[in-house]
Amino acid sequence: MEQEFARVAIVTGASRGIGRAIALRLAKDGFSVVVNYAGNEARAAEVVSAIRAAGGAAVAVRANVAAPAEVESLYAQARHAFGRVDVVVNSAGVMSLAPIAEGDLDAFDQTVAVNLRGTYLMMLHAAQVLPEGGRFIALSSSVVAKNFPGYGPYIASKAGVEGLVRTFANELRGRHVTVNAVAPGPVATELFLAGKSEALIDQIASQSPLERLGEPEDIADAVAFLAGPDGGWINGQVLRANGGFA
Ligand code: NDP
Repeated sequence: MEQEFARVAIVTGASRGIGRAIALRLAKDGFSVVVNYAGNEARAAEVVSAIRAAGGAAVAVRANVAAPAEVESLYAQARHAFGRVDVVVNSAGVMSLAPIAEGDLDAFDQTVAVNLRGTYLMMLHAAQVLPEGGRFIALSSSVVAKNFPGYGPYIASKAGVEGLVRTFANELRGRHVTVNAVAPGPVATELFLAGKSEALIDQIASQSPLERLGEPEDIADAVAFLAGPDGGWINGQVLRANGGFA
């Protein structure tokens, strides 16, 4: 039987990479999708076109997840377009390698602003709009458990995201909304590939017992599980979707 209304998902950072795959997958699963992006309007428009061409519903909305007024506007535009918000997936993220001893405060501030403050702001508004049955899914990273040199700001931001996820799940007691994170291992996107030699990429790929990098669709599968009916009893968890890269 058809539902009376389509469920609506906001996916941040959906113009490229993992967020794009999540947007396409949730649209395939029947969600109307708000495709958020930071600056890459053409890539966001391509994602919207692909969803519409397949018979789905989508709009693109530009918003910097680190900027309170822009996040407020993102939620307002989502509700204006589709009338409700059932699922929020915060995939927007940045990574720059910066050894602590170099003291690159700009890299630290920028990484924490987008990854951690962005998650906090997306949660703040999700708390106001998610109905019973709603889902909030953050993106962490399996590198949190690796402690690789140079990843200080990034690991700090994602460890913070995992703390927010567990706390937010508790704060939503009684609302019947689940809050989880998906923590990918290395995935073949611009964020991971930029600045790495082929030899380094091969070496990292071989660390997983499955002996390959993740694809954005591998992560979208995990997010779709948490966003869909089968994931309803998972709450306050971090799902490490990494092929065994642990
Ligand atoms: P990409 O670099 O491929 O894509 C990043 C996306 O985030 C783009 O859509 C970009 O928009 C958007 N974005 C960046 N900054 C902002 C901002 N301030 N506000 C709104 N949107 C923003 O990254 P991935 O797809 O690889 O990463 C997605 C998530 O997965 C991130 O949170 C990342 O930390 C996490 N992750 C990735 C892993 C990997 O190996 N790739 C491993 C573990 C975790 P625009 O196109 O407009 O610039």
